Amino acid sequence: MLIYPQVNIPDEIVRKNAVHYDIAGKTERDLTKEMNTKGPFSARGPFSKDGPRYWGLTTPSVFWTYDTKQIDSGGCALIRPNVVVTITIILPHLTTSSQASGSFLGKWMKLLNALRNHEEGHAQIAIKEGADLVQLMRTHSSDDTCKDLDNYLQTHGKAILERYENADDDYDKRTNHGADRGVHW
Ligand SMILES: [Zn+2]
Repeated sequence: MLIYPQVNIPDEIVRKNAVHYDIAGKTERDLTKEMNTKGPFSARGPFSKDGPRYWGLTTPSVFWTYDTKQIDSGGCALIRPNVVVTITIILPHLTTSSQASGSFLGKWMKLLNALRNHEEGHAQIAIKEGADLVQLMRTHSSDDTCKDLDNYLQTHGKAILERYENADDDYDKRTNHGADRGVHW
């Protein structure tokens, strides 16, 4: 039996970008209208300028790469394993907060927090997906041949990507896009 060297698989790299779009107004009606017309388009589904806009949006991307190397003593091991998760969260920014009444501002902060929490839930899905890919490489970092190693990782990696394919939609369905958790006036 061959004993392969232990391969160090680093944790995933998570990059988070925060993007804001400006809205203005002093009433719930004002801000709803602003968010409905200035909010981001969905990155999922068919892109259309006439498509629905969202009050907040999270765009995650998960990349995983690796190389394989023949070991002199036999077998093949992973080299340069890498998982990078990039998450962009778009949220509204109220530019006229100084003009709003305290009670209205309180209501707005509550809604914005709920929206932020909802988007954070999307971010966590992508982070979990990245962690699963890291785990896959940790549990199978070498094999008898490079072809075996690559086949194994591609098959199981594909299964992980497929498992997460509808995770964001499921999350939105489950939470009614956050409305069940406070994303409403
Ligand atoms: Zn959502």
